[in-house]
Amino acid sequence: MQHAQEALRTVDIHKSFGKMEVLKGLSITAHKGEVIAMLGASGSGKSTFLRCINLLEHPDKGRIIVDGEEIDLKPGQGGQLQAADRKQLERMRTRLGMVFQQFNLWAHMTVLQNVIEAPVHVLGMSRRDAIDRAQALLAKVGLSGRDAQYPGFLSGGQQQRVAIARALAMDPTVLLFDEPTSALDPELVGEVLKVMRDLADEGRTMIVVTHEMSFARDVANRVIFLHQGLIEEEGPPQELFNNPRSPRLIQFLERYR
Ligand code: ADP
Ligand code: MG
Repeated sequence: MQHAQEALRTVDIHKSFGKMEVLKGLSITAHKGEVIAMLGASGSGKSTFLRCINLLEHPDKGRIIVDGEEIDLKPGQGGQLQAADRKQLERMRTRLGMVFQQFNLWAHMTVLQNVIEAPVHVLGMSRRDAIDRAQALLAKVGLSGRDAQYPGFLSGGQQQRVAIARALAMDPTVLLFDEPTSALDPELVGEVLKVMRDLADEGRTMIVVTHEMSFARDVANRVIFLHQGLIEEEGPPQELFNNPRSPRLIQFLERYR
């Protein structure tokens, strides 16, 4: 059954690298407007999971449903699942905005070019419309007037805000953040978290892998704690932070006190 308000659902995602099983059956549902914080120790499979959702990594097993449409997956060589329909994959990817730890901006393109690239070349938007939209988004992330600059001349916090504007330019159904502030100098973390809070307030659907416990506590509707490729515990932040049940989660949270 398809929930009316469902933005993203994964069913029983498995992924191994060689003999090592990194994801052991991950099923999550993100409803529209929901912010999910994903926590877990290094190596627990958080990045691999996000990468499987947009098929940057090929799961061995599982289903992915975005905005009510299931991605048609077929086993390829080696048995890993591949998108059967290239056009559908492209369409699904436009619905999944990804923000990486290392920003992954195109260094040889200006800020504006970074933001308009996909709307123009993937969505077929006119340059004029894409530029108007990009400028509005850059204003929203506090970067008006930076259009012509190259990423290398910006601070990490500014680069990450460009990356967020770039993801928003596709108006995705879900924004996936993979430790968006982990590569930043401490004094630059706040400006990026502020933008993310604003997006949450606007009702954007977000899955945020983070070690920023105050963000998870204050902004997320639900927290998922991963341990060795499985959901060890999940629930509303108040419950999870104030009353963790799993000894592994208790131990994990100790480090952030
Ligand atoms: P997290 O993001 O939670 O730190 P990852 O998803 O990056 O964890 O990694 C989970 C496990 O999978 C780690 O043991 C990591 O070394 C391994 N891994 C991730 N990507 C690859 C890869 N491309 N090849 C082999 N092993 C990988
Ligand atoms: Mg990671």
